[in-house]
Amino acid sequence: MVVLAVAAHPDDIEFHCAGTLLKCKQRGDEVWICTVNNGSMGHAVIMPDELAEMRKKEAARSCELAGFHYITADIGDLQSYYQSREHKDIMVDIFRQVNPDLIFIQKPNDYMCDHVAASHLAFDASFMATCPHYETKYPAIDKIAPIYYMGTASEVGFNPTEYVDITDVYETKIKMLMCHESQEVWLREHDNVDYTNECRILSEFRGMQCKVKYAEAFEPCLVAHRIVPYRMLP
Ligand SMILES: [Zn+2]
Repeated sequence: MVVLAVAAHPDDIEFHCAGTLLKCKQRGDEVWICTVNNGSMGHAVIMPDELAEMRKKEAARSCELAGFHYITADIGDLQSYYQSREHKDIMVDIFRQVNPDLIFIQKPNDYMCDHVAASHLAFDASFMATCPHYETKYPAIDKIAPIYYMGTASEVGFNPTEYVDITDVYETKIKMLMCHESQEVWLREHDNVDYTNECRILSEFRGMQCKVKYAEAFEPCLVAHRIVPYRMLP
């Protein structure tokens, strides 16, 4: 099975679904991470162009550590628009290249505009990619894959119904998160977030709910053509 996780920024996926992706990899799936934005605004001192290059390298290193493929739409932070045909086409071509069987995306009610745009862009593009007369660089794919929503920031406004035990891959999830070195100080100072501590609390909280040490949780996207009568998560 081919699995594609799409999120706005480098490090969003590590927080909310890297453990599950590692479990997918463990069962033999081919795993792709796509970042819609390049992280260019995530620092007070480092200038956007320089930061975008740093953050793409951090994301690629995290994927390499996990054995995942990395792809990015490379759109600047705060510059992705889900109404934009240009941005939709970039995302359609990512779906057409990867051709996923299982998709993870962010929720459209998340806390900031890039996350909201990434959610809409991925939802729209995953359908548009299947329409042969919607012309982009790559040919249409033939399946509309099931979607699972990963947690919002701090998992506010998120009501998961499916859980994945990530206990045996938790240390690797943290190592992946730590690849995003440029973000640790920034998040502490700008958002008052202690990176690894928040990740641990979320993993323990979801673990507590399903009686394991560490877990991640998801909301299935229950719309026509996305529902399957069996479990797809590891
Ligand atoms: Zn983000």
